[in-house]
Amino acid sequence: MRHITLEQMKALLADPIFHQIGQAADQLGVDCYVVGGYVRDLFLERPSQDIDCVVVGSGIELAQTLGHSLGRGAHVSVFRHFGTAQLKWHGAEVEFVGARRESYSHDSRKPIVEDGTLEDDLLRRDFTINALAVCLNRDRFGQLIDRFDGLLDLEDGIIATPLDPDTTFSDDPLRMMRCIRFATQLNFQIEDETQQALARNAERIRIISQERIIDELNKIMLSPTPSIGFIELSRCGLLPIILPEIAALEGVEVRNGRAHKDNFYHTLEVLDNVAKASSELWLRWAALLHDVGKPRSKRWENGVGWTFHNHNYIGQKMVAPLFRRMKLPLDERLQYVEKLVGLHMRPIVIADEEVTDSAVRRLLFEAGEDIDDLMVLCEADITSKNQQRKQRFLDNFQLVRQKLADLQARDNYRTWTNPITGEEIMRTFGLAPCRQIGILKQAIKDAIWDSQIPNDHEAARTFMLEKAKEMGLTPVILLE
Ligand code: ATP
Ligand code: MG
Repeated sequence: MRHITLEQMKALLADPIFHQIGQAADQLGVDCYVVGGYVRDLFLERPSQDIDCVVVGSGIELAQTLGHSLGRGAHVSVFRHFGTAQLKWHGAEVEFVGARRESYSHDSRKPIVEDGTLEDDLLRRDFTINALAVCLNRDRFGQLIDRFDGLLDLEDGIIATPLDPDTTFSDDPLRMMRCIRFATQLNFQIEDETQQALARNAERIRIISQERIIDELNKIMLSPTPSIGFIELSRCGLLPIILPEIAALEGVEVRNGRAHKDNFYHTLEVLDNVAKASSELWLRWAALLHDVGKPRSKRWENGVGWTFHNHNYIGQKMVAPLFRRMKLPLDERLQYVEKLVGLHMRPIVIADEEVTDSAVRRLLFEAGEDIDDLMVLCEADITSKNQQRKQRFLDNFQLVRQKLADLQARDNYRTWTNPITGEEIMRTFGLAPCRQIGILKQAIKDAIWDSQIPNDHEAARTFMLEKAKEMGLTPVILLE
């Protein structure tokens, strides 16, 4: 990768837009480079949509000149306040900005910005792999500017800052999140000095808005192996600041020689397992939070050992406050995560005992359309090191899945409704609203779900009349 030739670089910049940009820059007599993430992703052969260009001069002027020469089909938006312009052309989106120099004050991540050289502009970038530039002017087209050996770091899989990492992170603490995010997305190592600086500057994350933090955290969550990011967040001390509930899962307590498992590492294993099975962000959040109630439910019971009774329900209640604080959505996505956290023990309990129709029907009814995701989460949750035990669970899960499929084919319990309504009960027995109606309805439901009677109106009515007799109720004679 390091020995890429000029010809190869030119081939990488195959999109005709790059030559068009170069021409416009030549026309204005300014130097122009494609920089940052786009160049990094070219080398990594990752798809990337947004192209960033730095102009040693006015980015706005270049965008306008280019827009003019491209004519119809090109659309330029100018953001004068930021000194930037965006050009859209045949599906390509290019952002133009003048080369700038930045200086920071301590209490803000908003720098003082002045015009600068290309060198100044590369110096203000966060990581060496993000500080590569390729010239687009005609006579130097395809020439790579690699001031900080970013290409070497790309090849070695290393995240390092161009400047002293303490300065880089203290100037803009969001870069700490970006650092861990890139390490996770790309499976790169964080260089030692950089990693130590993360720990020294972790507290500075508090000046960053929650929206920006969650943006990066979600990118970590969506990476192929999200655990990489959480281990780094924990190692440098960012985790207790941004997600104390997850940090609290860490550690093992030993009593009378008995230890419980480290729930942090268990959680990460579950998260990675889910990530292998699904790219769905909220299912991954459910995995991250499935055991979040464990620290609060942990007890030592003499003669039993460590227990975590009701940790699923306690955890379920913790999801909404956490979502609110993290500025995560408070809509059906929250409800979905709550539901999965609350139900995550169910299939395991079923699989541990005899897999009965009624237990599976109840599960199906409560999980509704999220039943498949719940099963993915539960299978991911089996992290036992005991291969035999693990296999037994997986086999039983197969049984649960089989039963789920059978029952779904037979009757649609996801949207089950009782064939007997409360109104019918009142009419039949001449009752006003009272407790007995609920008791009867529950009895009918149990009888159907336990497969004692078929799921139809006639059977349910016969059953109701018998049951009512036992309860001392007599039907009124209806006068038509
Ligand atoms: P991605 O697009 O995958 O989120 P990226 O590196 O392209 O990653 P962008 O936000 O698109 O991120 O930024 C483009 C470039 O701008 C980066 O590659 C980097 O050079 C620079 N950059 C972005 N954010 C920062 C920052 N907080 N500090 C310093 N440089 C930054
Ligand atoms: Mg980008």
